[in-house]
Amino acid sequence: MTKQMTVTQEATEILDRLGVAKAAWTGGTLASFSPVTGEQIATLPVASVADVGAAVERAQAAFKEWRLVPAPRRGELIRLLGEELRAAKADLGRLVSIEAGKIISEGLGEVQEMIDICDFAVGLSRQLYGLTIATERPGHRMMETWHPLGVVGVISAFNFPVAVWSWNTALAIVCGNPVIWKPSEKTPLTALASQAIFERAMKRFGDVPAGLSQVLIGAGDVGNALVENPKVALVSATGSTRMGRIVGPKVAARFGRTILELGGNNAGIVTPSADLDMALRAIAFGAMGTAGQRCTTMRRLFVHASVYDQLVPRLKKAYESVSIGNPLTSNALVGPLVDKLAFDAMQTALEASKSMGGTVTGGARASVEGDAAYYVRPAIVELPRHDGPALEETFAPILYVVKYTDFDEVLELHNAVGAGLSSSIFTTDLREMETFLSARGSDCGIANVNIGTSGAEIGGAFGGEKETGGGRESGSDAWRAYMRRQTNTVNYSNALPLAQGVVFDI
Ligand code: NAD
Repeated sequence: MTKQMTVTQEATEILDRLGVAKAAWTGGTLASFSPVTGEQIATLPVASVADVGAAVERAQAAFKEWRLVPAPRRGELIRLLGEELRAAKADLGRLVSIEAGKIISEGLGEVQEMIDICDFAVGLSRQLYGLTIATERPGHRMMETWHPLGVVGVISAFNFPVAVWSWNTALAIVCGNPVIWKPSEKTPLTALASQAIFERAMKRFGDVPAGLSQVLIGAGDVGNALVENPKVALVSATGSTRMGRIVGPKVAARFGRTILELGGNNAGIVTPSADLDMALRAIAFGAMGTAGQRCTTMRRLFVHASVYDQLVPRLKKAYESVSIGNPLTSNALVGPLVDKLAFDAMQTALEASKSMGGTVTGGARASVEGDAAYYVRPAIVELPRHDGPALEETFAPILYVVKYTDFDEVLELHNAVGAGLSSSIFTTDLREMETFLSARGSDCGIANVNIGTSGAEIGGAFGGEKETGGGRESGSDAWRAYMRRQTNTVNYSNALPLAQGVVFDI
């Protein structure tokens, strides 16, 4: 049996164990590949536009029932989902590695993130608080009530094939909404597996309306049918800024709601006072982890001239020696790129870097699993100035390094890109740290100190500004996007005073 057979065989066994029906991933037209070996592992039937419409109708019917279930009871369903995910963690984590190419600890980490958001959402199901508001009228009470919103459509990217669904689903369900998920066409199997796991939780829960959680397999056209359906109250779309530019205006045109989680071009700043050992490790994980395929991957690094020669040569050494390999059969830290397109985009960006005078270390294809898989040595590019390919997100492990001397100037450069997702500063200087976190500092949704740009916890709101789309998911008060706010004024007096002293006596 060849190694290539092994990946398919393993995926088959996992899908069987997790209870995914064979008909859902065989005999269809959508081919799914493992980036680990490049081999085709499944052919999935895809949803038609009519299927999308039918799914939305089922979800709408489910909404009418589910919104009446008390929120803490809805939380019980998510508690059970958390239990099922704990039981399935090893299998689902490995399937993430098979389908998205992540190293094993990151595949497992992604499932842990699903478990964490379930715990968070269970607590939240008893805390969907509204305010009581002081009213200017005697004998009146004013308050706000949060109600379930409606059908939530989730469109997700390949690089977090399951966590993004769980962030949205755990919150949407406790908030009283059904979910329809259109996963990336590059990672459909982990979606089917997640749905099978959720179905087990729903069975244990008992009285769940049919259509509360559905998965539609397909590409952008299937996502588009969700986007254009006026009965989908909220479209939570994670992916490239290119996709968001299409999706955002379409949903806005029908006055629907969006959570847009789009591309990032995240930077770190290393100041003269930084702990360089710590910075080195954080940058290495932030820039090379997940083979540079996280939305929060560190893509730009500004290093102060006084520490440049201490840090950058060490960083280059780390790039030259980092282990690259099959994530299923080795302990390598860097796995494959998702496909040839990603490899080609990386090479194009490296060529552009060279043509503007950049010095490239790394970036060559690594021979790991034959011609169909795309492993690459991460690249460091020392740029003479912050320009060219550094201004755009290339979804591959390229770190652009630029020397700086002036702190105010580097803040300007830091913010001078379209995306605004994550950022970090390495410093032990209180003034620099606080300035970076202040109104004139980082313009990103996430700003870190002495840690890298990636690896967020679920407790905080996750998302970014500008071309990253402005959406927030996961922790803090992100739940509010999944509910509608109603302001209530109750008059318990015998009079009818009008606000602002208006008189209207009849
Ligand atoms: P992508 O934009 O190619 O695809 C994302 C999803 O959008 C897929 O499910 C795809 O089928 C769907 N889609 C594409 N066109 C569509 C359309 N017109 N209408 C509706 N749906 C459509 O992204 P990708 O290559 O899978 O993922 C990588 C990108 O995602 C990177 O830019 C990365 O930064 C971003 N990302 C962002 C976050 C975040 O939270 N900000 C998280 C993960 C990934």
